[in-house]
Amino acid sequence: MSKALETILEIDLSALTHNFNYLKSKLQPQTKFLAVVKAFAYGSDSVEIAKHLQKLNVDYFAVAYTQEGIALRDAGIKTPILVLHPQSINAETLIDRCLEPNIYSAKLLNDFITVAEQQGQKDYPIHLKFNTGLNRLGFNQKDVDTVVARLKSTTAVYVKSIFSHLAASEDLNEKDFTLQQIETFKAIASSFKSKSGIEPWLHLCNTSGIINYPEAHFNMVRSGIGLYGFGNSELEDKYFKPIANLKSVVSQIHEIDKGKSVGYNRAYTSNRNERVATIPIGHADGLSRIYGNKKGFVLLMMRKPISLVMFVWI
Ligand SMILES: *Cc1c(COP(=O)(O)O)cnc(C)c1O
Repeated sequence: MSKALETILEIDLSALTHNFNYLKSKLQPQTKFLAVVKAFAYGSDSVEIAKHLQKLNVDYFAVAYTQEGIALRDAGIKTPILVLHPQSINAETLIDRCLEPNIYSAKLLNDFITVAEQQGQKDYPIHLKFNTGLNRLGFNQKDVDTVVARLKSTTAVYVKSIFSHLAASEDLNEKDFTLQQIETFKAIASSFKSKSGIEPWLHLCNTSGIINYPEAHFNMVRSGIGLYGFGNSELEDKYFKPIANLKSVVSQIHEIDKGKSVGYNRAYTSNRNERVATIPIGHADGLSRIYGNKKGFVLLMMRKPISLVMFVWI
């Protein structure tokens, strides 16, 4: 561990490699791996994370928004990128930047096909999302016929994969619900395949799904939180290594008398003479105020022992 000279979020790429290899060890050799790098790679740095995973030959990336995909393309990422939550207005940009949309509604399917046809596209890769119980994004099982009919009317797009998302893969009390989702997904996939005559890849599992439902890995898995070092259960966490370390320095120490207040809105009052340390980070940096007034803690590494009542406020 290096010493912080100011506030930094240190990202350990060797921990990322470790987590990637650990998750891969749970897969069959032919199962593809999609790395979810949305939201700045879960608050770290999507470009650095994606560059490293690209070197490790990850098969796919996923981001939430088109703009996040553009940032990866601008940084020279060549690996295919699935955009999980695009809007119709993004269609042209998606095609321009070689980004593959999740198509989750009839409106988006129509709008995307219209733009792809206008641009003279042939077999542009798209991914269809079906809702199997999370009730977030996706077509429903009863929509298969209309989706297939719309797809048969064009050659501009090609369904590269069909996927769904598990609602409770980390909660083994909900195992029956998850098994039901898996069955619904299989039924949708087989109905789609027989009606459309195409054989798209299938994918369903997030990190906890990879760990808890090996029978449902299908052609590809999608992992986010596991890559960043968390297994979603205490049992699994020990096999992962957190990739990020938030470090800072003590800028100033105040000696305050008993009865003095500290921090915004005078949230804390000392009940004896105390020492208070200030660290250069706060809620503007995304460190929530819910950690204020003794609810958050820092680990203090000292070169020589001093007596200090450590108190964090932000
Ligand atoms: C965010 C997301 C994931 C990643 O889930 P983790 O639990 O972080 O592994 C996978 N699939 C979809 C559709 C997502 O939105």
